[in-house]
Amino acid sequence: MKITSIRPIIVGDVRNFLFVIVETDEGLCGLGEGGITWRESAMAGFIEALRPSLLGQDPMRTEHLWQVMLRCGFFPPGRLGLAAISAIDIALWDIKAQALAVPLYQLLGGRVRDRVVCYPHVAGPNPASLVEDARRKVAEQWRFVRFDLPCWNEVFEPRRAVREGVELFAAVREAVGPEIELVIDVHTRLDPANAILLCRELEAHRPYFVEDPLRSENPASLRRLREQTSVPIAMGEQHATKWEFREMIENDWIDFARVDLCIAGGITETMKIAGWCETHYLPLAPHNPLGPVCTAASLHVDLAISNFAVQECARPPGAVLSELFPEQVPFERGHLLPPTRPGLGITFDESAIRRYPPIQDGDCPRFRRDDGAFTNW
Ligand SMILES: [Mg+2]
Repeated sequence: MKITSIRPIIVGDVRNFLFVIVETDEGLCGLGEGGITWRESAMAGFIEALRPSLLGQDPMRTEHLWQVMLRCGFFPPGRLGLAAISAIDIALWDIKAQALAVPLYQLLGGRVRDRVVCYPHVAGPNPASLVEDARRKVAEQWRFVRFDLPCWNEVFEPRRAVREGVELFAAVREAVGPEIELVIDVHTRLDPANAILLCRELEAHRPYFVEDPLRSENPASLRRLREQTSVPIAMGEQHATKWEFREMIENDWIDFARVDLCIAGGITETMKIAGWCETHYLPLAPHNPLGPVCTAASLHVDLAISNFAVQECARPPGAVLSELFPEQVPFERGHLLPPTRPGLGITFDESAIRRYPPIQDGDCPRFRRDDGAFTNW
């Protein structure tokens, strides 16, 4: 079997998504997705740059082709390049599992669990409506809820956010009871001093984890936080490759690895990161704010690794792009379930592309401080 075509496509729904379609001379077609949101055209460009190295190659050689994609340009590809590599790697695994006529998880060791618990995004324009949304999700039988640290019309002030974030956390805990697990996402908005303050004040409310308390460029900044709080810390959604996870894992700076399959290097690299985490008894809580391909790829890994905790599921199957992906992976009451189709287990109807034109001039949310200075959104 040979790869005959690699096409990136950008489609718009609630926002833009980048997918790749890999085709073969035997008629099999694999799907992949790239995870650097708001930079879809750059990922598409990187996929096009990789194309000459892949056309004519055997798609079953996933490890070999991963190495080719990573190293053939000599210069390390960086996170954006890894998102493009991730998309192609996922598509190659989709083809391989279809060629062998098994659901993809069978090639990763088979199922170690029957279902995959997920956390949804809970939100609202004010604390009362956010608490109401949390109640609604629990009524839908989600076992987790996750919400952001507060902000005010794209203004973010760290001290106020910590103060109101702790109050919000307590209000959600009060509303949903002790058995529902709570996650608060800081979205890399705090510096170490305020992250320490937030984590220490949350300790009494037993968060499942605090997500992305710090920025990701300098993992060593986690040391101070780790030493000064007992709150479980989750990081990794911006990291690419095992090498970017290495320091956090080996120093035990995190409690959950938030691998994003569509950034970290696809299925090939996520399985290696999971193995490395296992040596430190660290579970994975994979990141996924993306579309149906990421959800499916994440599900297959979650089903096959023993050190799994919870799967982010911002857009449950069917929530976006439902005409482009008429069949998505099974989902029921806050859990993803094993697909039965060969490959990723989703279907793609290319004729529906024109119904999802890319959003033009889309830009990511832009937050500022009270004084007008730029800050992370
Ligand atoms: Mg996050």
